[in-house]
Amino acid sequence: MVTAEREWRITADPTVCIGSGSCVLAAPHTFDQDDEGTVVVLQPTPDENHRAAALTAVGACPVRAITT
Ligand code: SF4
Repeated sequence: MVTAEREWRITADPTVCIGSGSCVLAAPHTFDQDDEGTVVVLQPTPDENHRAAALTAVGACPVRAITT
């Protein structure tokens, strides 16, 4: 079966993250922070209900640590 949509996957680079928390505010279902404030991706492939928020989080990251 051919699908028009490529697989959608969120990645975050912890070596770039400065712990601002913007991604968690924008998409708490998709992102969290560890004890040091570094990003943790909870849902690398967010379902449709959480994709818009996850994309907002990508744009909200001040250091562009998150990619899709
Ligand atoms: S928005 Fe960017 S810098 Fe801030 S916690 Fe998330 S990944 Fe880290």
